[in-house]
Amino acid sequence: MYLKRIEIAGFKSFADRTVIEFENGVTAVVGPNGSGKSNITEAIRWVLGEQSAKSLRGGKMPDIIFAGSEGRKALNIAEVTVVLDNSDHFLPLDFTEISVTRRYRRSGESDFYINKQACRLKDIHDLFMDSGLGKESFSIISQGKVEAIFNSKPEDRRGIFEEAAGVLKYKQRKKKAEQK
Ligand code: ATP
Ligand code: MG
Repeated sequence: MYLKRIEIAGFKSFADRTVIEFENGVTAVVGPNGSGKSNITEAIRWVLGEQSAKSLRGGKMPDIIFAGSEGRKALNIAEVTVVLDNSDHFLPLDFTEISVTRRYRRSGESDFYINKQACRLKDIHDLFMDSGLGKESFSIISQGKVEAIFNSKPEDRRGIFEEAAGVLKYKQRKKKAEQK
């Protein structure tokens, strides 16, 4: 499984619809400071289910929408789609290609799609939980994350290992079952 394509529109500095194609292998994104490199990884984390505006370097969710620039007014919708090659059926869906879309309006409304079928945020979380691609995953290591892991308290570090080992899913299910 690998990331084939990302389509970004109205997300942070990407006012115009921008399509980035990836090959299977290593891709390096280079550009001057402030040109939007980190915004690409944030768009990926967001579409995969990130819910914390703070971890997307914003104060609140509307901050992810293009806020306007010199000569260009702010937009009201942000939309990101990632397309994953799933020909190895790594993700538990019977498709060789999986697209995931998230749309957010300034009014606060959200839409989520898997392969263009409307779904819930939970369905996206469930699809990626355990795959190593989910929102808390370590497939995306942001600036400062390595230090954060080294400096974390033992119990927090345990959580990191549990997630990496795929135990978290079962813990969450157990907790849910206990609440019922
Ligand atoms: P560096 O090399 O310093 O890490 P970078 O290429 O990672 O830079 P980003 O942090 O991705 O750059 O992009 C920051 C830019 O995105 C800033 O110019 C900021 O103004 C812009 N930006 C962030 N949020 C929004 C938004 N909601 N609307 C418009 N522009 C935004
Ligand atoms: Mg950056």
